[in-house]
Amino acid sequence: MSGNLNFIEEIIEKDRAEGKNGGEVYTRFPPEPNGYLHIGHAKSICLNFGLAKKYNGKTNLRFDDTNPTKEDVEYVDSIKEDIKWLGFNWDRELYASDYFEQLYDWAVQLIKEGKAYVDELSQEEASKYRGTPTEPATPSPYRNRPVQENLDLFARMRNGEFPNGSMTLRAKIDLASPNMHLRDPIMYRILHENHHRTGDKWCIYPMYDYAHGQSDSIENITHSICTLEFEVHRPLYNWFIEALKIFAPQQIEFARLNLSYTVMSKRKLLQLVQEKYVTGWDDPRMPTISGYRRRGYTPEAIRLFAEKIGVAKRDNMIDVSLLEWCVREDLNKSAQRVMAVLNPVKVIIDNYPDGQIDELDAVNNPEDEAMGTRKVYFSKEIYIERDDFMENPPKKYFRLSVGAEVRLRYAYLVTCTSVIKDDNGHITEIHCTYDPASKGGNSPDGRKVKGTIHWVSAHDAIDVQVRLFDRLFTVPNPDEAEEGKTFLDYLNPSSLKTVTAKAEPFLANAKQLEHFQFERMGYFNLDPDSDREQLIFNRTVTLKDTWAKQVAMSENN
Ligand code: ATP
Ligand code: MG
Repeated sequence: MSGNLNFIEEIIEKDRAEGKNGGEVYTRFPPEPNGYLHIGHAKSICLNFGLAKKYNGKTNLRFDDTNPTKEDVEYVDSIKEDIKWLGFNWDRELYASDYFEQLYDWAVQLIKEGKAYVDELSQEEASKYRGTPTEPATPSPYRNRPVQENLDLFARMRNGEFPNGSMTLRAKIDLASPNMHLRDPIMYRILHENHHRTGDKWCIYPMYDYAHGQSDSIENITHSICTLEFEVHRPLYNWFIEALKIFAPQQIEFARLNLSYTVMSKRKLLQLVQEKYVTGWDDPRMPTISGYRRRGYTPEAIRLFAEKIGVAKRDNMIDVSLLEWCVREDLNKSAQRVMAVLNPVKVIIDNYPDGQIDELDAVNNPEDEAMGTRKVYFSKEIYIERDDFMENPPKKYFRLSVGAEVRLRYAYLVTCTSVIKDDNGHITEIHCTYDPASKGGNSPDGRKVKGTIHWVSAHDAIDVQVRLFDRLFTVPNPDEAEEGKTFLDYLNPSSLKTVTAKAEPFLANAKQLEHFQFERMGYFNLDPDSDREQLIFNRTVTLKDTWAKQVAMSENN
């Protein structure tokens, strides 16, 4: 086997070598429409669609809509939008509910063959009868009903003659199996509930284990890829397929994605939304595809991430910084550079002529010459980051302090002469002089000026709102809450900070979701909450490390 294949590719290549299924690869992505897709789903999407693409196969999008109580069309629509945005096209859009009639007929077939029965144990009774992995289950008193009686009761279950919870249809398999899933698993339950597609047609609904494998089979799925917790379900998956003598897909399990500082269960994400800890499923702090999109992550970055983490057979925890790395990696190549000052302090260049405006050339993207240059305008009064000035700088501080010289990006070398403070000791103005011979930021006599800082001119700067995000949770694994606590106790109280920034006028024409690098401050995009009066930018991700970047920038000059 080639060393570069993951274990699923190895299985597929072996199948193809043996001519299994005529060498075809047909996968599916089977979301339950009970929430928005998250980054874990993205891993599964990239895997299923990626494998099909690699082996010239196809992928179905199948909504696993067997639980009407939690499902909704809002989720169906968002799931489709997110998959397309990630860059994938499904072959067919299908619904497990399309197969309800076929699944019902197959259940009748199993009843006729003595392989299924209608049980009347209540849920509590059934769990008492279930036994433990080492003790066999106690047979239900209804286990050996005559076939006719089962057929009659099952038909009446469908007709709505019985209330919720009063009966189930169970497969008759093996009450002594050490695999609890084989101890007469439930196939159907009664649920008098409106379904988002089938309406009131059904009041019995198939369980996941009964619906999933048969849906795979109907669609001729060759490789049914799912997460590890379904490994113990595999014997049951195969049992139904064999009992029904239908096309046999192969179930393959891989490790689900766990990300540090993140919760991913849809139940918990729903709780964050419903209890308003976040503004919605697409809140930029959410690990949902729609949240990441709004935050400014790109499909390329998410696909790169999926590729980097690969597929494993054991559960593990991936550091969220890897995802952030992928985002930077992609945005670095494509993002338009601009200058914006997030925490502004005014600088006055005392020897710069009043009213003079200098036109300067700024590079749009040093990674991509084709993106060209733009004009920025310089004047006597500018803003710089408050953090780029220090009164008592440590050694190796190359930014501004009284007496120090620094390069203003694309503009001039300036030397700080004094600062003005208010009564509270807060700096209100920094005064500098500039070297007129240093236009463009060049040192006219070869003298070393290490630090380069960004700025915006006061005469044309626009005010924009900037949302600075931090991780939503303060601990690497919020799912493992201490006793008496829940994941909510680990929410980061400062996961969102909003500031008003001074930005280059270039940003006035930003389009929704367009990406920018605010030089030295990170990657940002325009949030859809913006309007003409108020532009709002999300910080997608910070640059690697402000200090490292600082040094790198000075070396560039
Ligand atoms: P959750 O537990 O978050 O509610 P789920 O597994 O119930 O998720 P589904 O909509 O049933 O969500 O999942 C659709 C597909 O996505 C399944 O094949 C599932 O295995 C896969 N999937 C879900 N979560 C992850 C994850 N964290 N990593 C990888 N794949 C995942
Ligand atoms: Mg599920």
